[in-house]
Amino acid sequence: PLVLGIETSCDETAAAVVGRDADGGARILSNVVLSQIDEHAAFGGVVPEIAARAHAEAIGGIVRAALDEAGVSLREIGAVAATVGPGLVGGLIVGATAAKAIARPLGLPFIAVNHLEGHALTPRLTDGLAYPYLLLLVSGGHTQILLVEGLGAYERWGTTIDDALGEAFDKTAKLLELPHPGGPSVERLADGGDPHRFPLPRPLRGEKRLDFSFSGLKTAVRQTAEANAPLEPQDVADLCAAFQRAASESVADRLALALARFRDRFPDLADPALAVAGGVAANGEIRRALAALSERTGVRLVSPPHALCTDNAAMIAYAGLERLEAGERDASSAPVRPRWPLDATAAPLIGFGK
Ligand code: ATP
Ligand code: MG
Ligand code: FE
Repeated sequence: PLVLGIETSCDETAAAVVGRDADGGARILSNVVLSQIDEHAAFGGVVPEIAARAHAEAIGGIVRAALDEAGVSLREIGAVAATVGPGLVGGLIVGATAAKAIARPLGLPFIAVNHLEGHALTPRLTDGLAYPYLLLLVSGGHTQILLVEGLGAYERWGTTIDDALGEAFDKTAKLLELPHPGGPSVERLADGGDPHRFPLPRPLRGEKRLDFSFSGLKTAVRQTAEANAPLEPQDVADLCAAFQRAASESVADRLALALARFRDRFPDLADPALAVAGGVAANGEIRRALAALSERTGVRLVSPPHALCTDNAAMIAYAGLERLEAGERDASSAPVRPRWPLDATAAPLIGFGK
């Protein structure tokens, strides 16, 4: 069956059509993403009200575009999936309502998808990766190490105790007066910088727990910037390089420990794999650090293309497809869930209109 997926949890309005080939592999027939970056640029971050209005204005055209690009009509769609959480409530309502409005009159199943599950299953969509695998999810709102054991079976092994890594990149960029989103800005400047000139901390390094912390790093960047003000362009580049080095070493340090635990837990796995997902997975230095770790440990690294690491609807359609194949479907009264951890069963429900 073909699944139409809709994603509106943050600042991308996205729709996609995903199905399976005759051999059972997943196939992306279309993947349309409209970024709202320009609308939020002047505010240095995502403004929820602006995001919700922009989603409402764009969603119809984006769904149309996804169907056109796939070359299919609604009659050929077998189910409609939408992100219902976690994320900004206004956008979630727009996407979930659009999906239900399409599914209901056609008698199609509606599938409520967790955005994080979309990220978590992306390596199955792109590489057909078999369960179980270890996942590093590094995005604007999350920094987690997850054991992905099966559909709906996620164990969170570590998380950030303060800022997400993407958030730390964004805040660092902001305090250095670089354009939003910060990740790509910092990476671009770091290329011409010296990572050794400014010493920055490596939070939680060597600790036995698998958590992350990035707010101290960001504070150290601010203090260094203040101590060296006014900053010349080379100072900014050196600070970016130091920050990026500290961030990737922190990630690699935590992951080394997680991989050891993964090997202990699944000693007989023929092809153990570490997958990455989330926007920060686009970062070249972090990718290199993970590749080196993979080399050293013999655990295969699966890193999906950038466009499928950042927010998109193909991952939502694919998660919907796996759920559909597992016989699942959701009621058209299913609520949106602005807070919805992947691994917890007792997250509070927040319904429409609250
Ligand atoms: P979540 O999935 O947690 O809800 P999100 O969907 O907003 O958050 P993504 O769209 O997956 O997050 O990723 C956006 C984040 O990725 C931003 O913080 C951005 O700065 C960061 N990012 C994008 N490209 C890079 C890069 N090259 N280097 C570092 N960070 C990057
Ligand atoms: Mg985004
Ligand atoms: Fe995301």
